[in-house]
Amino acid sequence: MAGLLETITELSHEFGTAEYVQGGGGNTSCKNADTLWVKPSGTTLAGLRAETFVEMDRSRLGRLFQLAVPQDKAARESLVKEVMAAAVKSGGAGRPSVEAPLHDVLGGTYVVHTHPMLVNGLTCSREAEAACRRLFPDALWVPYVDPGYTLCMDVHRRIQDYRIREGREPGLLLLENHGVFVSGQTAQEVRETYGRVMKALRGQYAAAGVAMELTLGQPGSAGAIEAIEVQLRSWLGTEAAGVVHSAPFKVAEGPLSPDHIVYSKSYSYNGPLTREGLDVFRARHGYSPRVLATPAAVFGLGASIKQAQLALELARDGALVLQLAEAFGGQRYLDGAAREFIENWEVESYRSKQMA
Ligand SMILES: [Zn+2]
Repeated sequence: MAGLLETITELSHEFGTAEYVQGGGGNTSCKNADTLWVKPSGTTLAGLRAETFVEMDRSRLGRLFQLAVPQDKAARESLVKEVMAAAVKSGGAGRPSVEAPLHDVLGGTYVVHTHPMLVNGLTCSREAEAACRRLFPDALWVPYVDPGYTLCMDVHRRIQDYRIREGREPGLLLLENHGVFVSGQTAQEVRETYGRVMKALRGQYAAAGVAMELTLGQPGSAGAIEAIEVQLRSWLGTEAAGVVHSAPFKVAEGPLSPDHIVYSKSYSYNGPLTREGLDVFRARHGYSPRVLATPAAVFGLGASIKQAQLALELARDGALVLQLAEAFGGQRYLDGAAREFIENWEVESYRSKQMA
């Protein structure tokens, strides 16, 4: 058991870098026949220690898939929480990742789930499914569904179908507008699968002539940037207690994945900052922007510096995904129903609170 936890801790650090995850995104687990150890919600992969993992009873966790399905979305989500809470054995800090049942269903001893930009350039694109089948014929492709209960049930069914069809366990899952799951019996198997995926995608971007680094514009003068920061603080008060900025880049014009919504909100303010523009934005979306793309700079805002940094980090990530998706027919944003589900999702608001 100590060996399992040491290995998954090592893998968590290895795949907890900026190339693979942003903020508290991604999660990892290891398992034996009876127990699943999974990353707690609200922690980062890079900061995980062996004793941080939440220990869960697999037979109790598996009950989720036998229960009758409530019609109401909120009722389904609270059912997942109840089953998960009842399955927690001991240890760890906080509650298990909402994706814990999904980790449990995968056959591998080690599961590493991340949101790499290079992968999301594909999963957030119009040609995602066809490209996935062409580049990774062994992968299990998962069309977008709401995270939490719906995702767990959907993937559970798809894995069962895959086992029957292919006669083996899936080791690679690509999730539309979300990221990747890699499952392996050994750490080496996990590393090899990731290596193969990243190498193939780099080849695709290079062949398409798409830059793998974010293209930045010329920043405005320090004085111009300072003036915008002062305006933001005076107009938005505590909502702009934290302000950070970067050289300008082209921001996404809609939500690309659940994490982009959680940390940066679905839409960014785009254009020169004016009081009227800000009022129009707030009237249209019902919230103040977390990301402002002005000609002088892109700003991340939040109630704290940490929140502002995360907003900007996800905005940069989204911008790069947008750039990369050009290799696969351009980006595909989440639709209104998918977006609203995340905006109202209590489990995720818990996570962004933890990260604040
Ligand atoms: Zn995820």
